[in-house]
Amino acid sequence: MNSKAAILIVEDDAAVRNLMAVTMETQGYQYSLAGTGSEALIELTTHRPDIMLLDLGLPDMEGVDIIRKVRTWSAMPVIVISARSEDADKVEALDAGADDYLTKPFSVDELLARLRVALRRLHASNAAGGESSVYENGSLRIDYAAGCAYLNGSEIHLTPIEYKLICLLAKNTGKVLTHNYILKEIWGNFTASDMGSLRVFMAMLRKKLQTGSDAQPFIQTHIGIGYRMLKTEKGTEETP
Ligand code: CA
Repeated sequence: MNSKAAILIVEDDAAVRNLMAVTMETQGYQYSLAGTGSEALIELTTHRPDIMLLDLGLPDMEGVDIIRKVRTWSAMPVIVISARSEDADKVEALDAGADDYLTKPFSVDELLARLRVALRRLHASNAAGGESSVYENGSLRIDYAAGCAYLNGSEIHLTPIEYKLICLLAKNTGKVLTHNYILKEIWGNFTASDMGSLRVFMAMLRKKLQTGSDAQPFIQTHIGIGYRMLKTEKGTEETP
């Protein structure tokens, strides 16, 4: 299923790069390696990989600048893997267009799990080939044409802002959206006080999406960073 996806690993630390290469090898993923930002840009423009795993601190440029460049021509999934654990660094990378982030030291299992999410997002966007009018994620269904959302077949009563929020999250399933990104998309111009409103709206929305006490929530909160819509496998995938 994933054998065709080509993964670009951008990492200047040789030991980490080798670990990642061996991991890709054992999983049967196709991959290429870059140790600097300029090598990465050459790989990106000549071989057009499908997914990029990107270190932020590179000897010749900042990883964030690579994301900004790539986003001018590609929507490819980008997973940031960095030793920088400050929220501000994660937010900057996500705002620049990264999909996800992993803090070093990371576990190989965690890396592979994030990669699977990115691959699913890649396949979903390839399969859709444009705008689909119905979104389905486990027991959640959104009919974009009708402007309605359903949980287990029953309509969820959402305010206009809650509906906009759920659509924005759904269209970016698997991707971490920062507070700033969400505020800009939903409210356009925003002030610091809108951050509080966002939190209230998200709390209301999450409550309306609750299916049961043991069910995995649809919306994951990243404290200090933002939110992500999780892909729910109709009860087939165990939560780790
Ligand atoms: Ca580095």
